[in-house]
Amino acid sequence: MSLEKIRKGNAIFTNKFKETKKLYNYLVENGQHPKVLWVGCSDSRVIPEFTVNADAGDLFVIRNIANIIPPKDADETCTSSVLEYAVLHLNVEHIVICGHTGCGGINALIDGTLEDSKIHDWLKYANPAKETAKSSGRDSLELETIKENIFLQAKNLMTFDYIEEKHRKNEIKIHKWLYNMHSGKISFYNDFDNDWLPLN
Ligand SMILES: [Zn+2]
Repeated sequence: MSLEKIRKGNAIFTNKFKETKKLYNYLVENGQHPKVLWVGCSDSRVIPEFTVNADAGDLFVIRNIANIIPPKDADETCTSSVLEYAVLHLNVEHIVICGHTGCGGINALIDGTLEDSKIHDWLKYANPAKETAKSSGRDSLELETIKENIFLQAKNLMTFDYIEEKHRKNEIKIHKWLYNMHSGKISFYNDFDNDWLPLN
């Protein structure tokens, strides 16, 4: 997308903005009250709001390479500050960890990246998923690692006391979702059936 396309894009958006001014005005005057924190990948092909047809104000979003949540003791403040704000201040009711097929971050993890790189440093938070996937052998190593990474990051959420407590009290729900880039469809992991099922 060229800068020229971006400039024209804002003109198009401004027209749409006028059409939905009521919603935008409401959000300005009443503040944001999203019920969902979405943890997704930075991949430009996987846009959370598009995939679930969300409006402004619906999703509080954090995106990074391979939809990772470093555990609490990682002393990492980007994702943890988003968690804190979403859970303790916005009081979201749901946290969605949404991975996706064909994830470049996960492929970099499998193939190995240069050790002296920030990407390498970041992907170490997904490394246990690769190790688990190696011994699983159900799907391809890529798909299995993508799925295991979703489980791992959902588990990492629980290292934050306030999330663990709210989850235990059923005040917050954790969702493990997988977006298929070939179909646009989302699957969710059903803990009772231990299986991935279509979201709709
Ligand atoms: Zn990705």
